[in-house]
Amino acid sequence: MERGDVCVQDKLNHACLIDGATLAGCALRRYPHNDVDAASRQLDGAGDAPKLLATDGVFSMDGDLAPLRPLAALAKVHHALLLVDDAHGFGVLGTDGQGSPEHLGLDAHDVPLRMVTLGKAVGCSGALVLGSRAMIDALIQFARPFVYTTALPPAIAAAALCSITHLRREPQRRAHLRELIARFRIGASQLGYTVMPSTTPIQPLLIGDTQAAVALSQALLQGGRYVPAIRPPTVPVGAARLRVTLSAAHTAAQIDGLLDALNDMRCA
Ligand SMILES: *Cc1c(COP(=O)(O)O)cnc(C)c1O
Repeated sequence: MERGDVCVQDKLNHACLIDGATLAGCALRRYPHNDVDAASRQLDGAGDAPKLLATDGVFSMDGDLAPLRPLAALAKVHHALLLVDDAHGFGVLGTDGQGSPEHLGLDAHDVPLRMVTLGKAVGCSGALVLGSRAMIDALIQFARPFVYTTALPPAIAAAALCSITHLRREPQRRAHLRELIARFRIGASQLGYTVMPSTTPIQPLLIGDTQAAVALSQALLQGGRYVPAIRPPTVPVGAARLRVTLSAAHTAAQIDGLLDALNDMRCA
């Protein structure tokens, strides 16, 4: 993207997408969260300018999915390039762990450009961009932050490759994770907590008041559970939450332990 181009983004996109658009010098338009009609109007308004439509696949603070199928159709109609940041989908969603496009039955024609981090499900550091040869070549030649940054160390690349092999071959880890997610959601709802519409390992509990969320987080930490409080300005005022993040390495007993702790705190 460059000056004169238009980047249309979801308002809840990760900061890196916002900063990337700013760095590129293109015009940035942001639509209300997951509002496909609003995205359509913004693409319309961009006229003949080159357009990029960018969204998180899984939103990092809410855990919900982007409506990738209608967004992909929209991008095609408007001749916009669709970029999906699938940092939280890769490794976790889809039969083979390929992420939110696979989960929603979409392929590389629907989502021509994807960014996935190696820092989350893969357990390493660094990131990948997945796209056509021409797009990758263009990034290698012109993406300044990439060109002027030291390459991934070979040891990290080897570890990531090994991790991705496990991700593909061991769907039972994803099945286990899905069970933990269901167990946590049912349990937390039964305790009277407000779960959010998320089917992913990001399971925020809406608390509302910032001080209350921080107090709950600190109490959980005392019991050996790291559940950060997410508060304004990361989320809107009055929407402070506990961001529970589940992993395939957790056990059902640990989920029950967390639920017991949440129950004790609710009564305290
Ligand atoms: C975590 C995250 C990133 C950043 O990944 P790093 O590996 O920490 O650079 C980018 N996008 C989204 C949506 C994320 O959740």
